[in-house]
Amino acid sequence: MSLGVVSLAAVSLVERIMNIRMWQQNGRRAPHKPLLLLYALARFQREGEGPILYSAAEKELAELIRDFGPPGAAGPYYPFDRLANDDDLWTVATGDGLPSPGDSPVRLRETGAVGRFTPSVVAELRTRPEKLLEAARALLDANFPESLHESICDAVGLDLHRTPYVLRRVTRPRDPAFRRAVLNAYAHRCAFCDYEGRLAGTTVGLDAAHIRWFAFDGPDTLDNSLCLCSLHHVLFDKGVLTLTHDHRVRVTDAFTGGTPTTRAQVHALAGRPVAPPVPALASAHLTWHHAQVFHGAA
Ligand SMILES: [Zn+2]
Repeated sequence: MSLGVVSLAAVSLVERIMNIRMWQQNGRRAPHKPLLLLYALARFQREGEGPILYSAAEKELAELIRDFGPPGAAGPYYPFDRLANDDDLWTVATGDGLPSPGDSPVRLRETGAVGRFTPSVVAELRTRPEKLLEAARALLDANFPESLHESICDAVGLDLHRTPYVLRRVTRPRDPAFRRAVLNAYAHRCAFCDYEGRLAGTTVGLDAAHIRWFAFDGPDTLDNSLCLCSLHHVLFDKGVLTLTHDHRVRVTDAFTGGTPTTRAQVHALAGRPVAPPVPALASAHLTWHHAQVFHGAA
């Protein structure tokens, strides 16, 4: 069978990747497989379709999951083995060509297990190279807020701008009025630190942040939003900061940083009251952020 025939017969890569959306359950974050796929796509972009040796990739994958997964996420052995069960994307074999030894990290290491894209994915990425970035964008959009996309690409070594073409957005459309409404509701100031700034009259360095992420069905509504400066937006999306139900900033004990600036911009925020706009913030969205994003007990 030629590569072309495989490619035509299969469901497209992006469609299969969007099925990963279904791996979310009731808003619970399960980014292991998306992170592994992003890692593998980046590897493909840099080096082509060679196999990925589990023992060589384990440390980097563990760091990815630790940095961008929910608190208490399982290790890299889990997606490395389990991704092979999903829809013809990924395949795992031991160094001797036997089937995957399962999701035991010891067995994956000892048997010299390697993972790789299935032949149909390789065929599609070879014949239509633009699909690689489309797939990566779909994974990022479906699983992470935009504030983290660049850091994730840096971490996996993916160049999203290598091919100049317009990437198709595959999630529900964003409401362009959302940003304006949120900034107005918070009087163009960071809800956490009171930063405000304008460049030639236009607000700069402030974002409309979702509490429950857009990628996890967080609505574009004021009760799910905070106006945050760029620093606090990233720290909020990475789970360094959250907001308690009585609207006070909480800083995770897991965060460290010793300069006076860090203390002033992060540690000093602990307990600081935030005045939300009308209507008040929805406690269901805050609960989601506490459970799925924040590193520590809120
Ligand atoms: Zn701020």
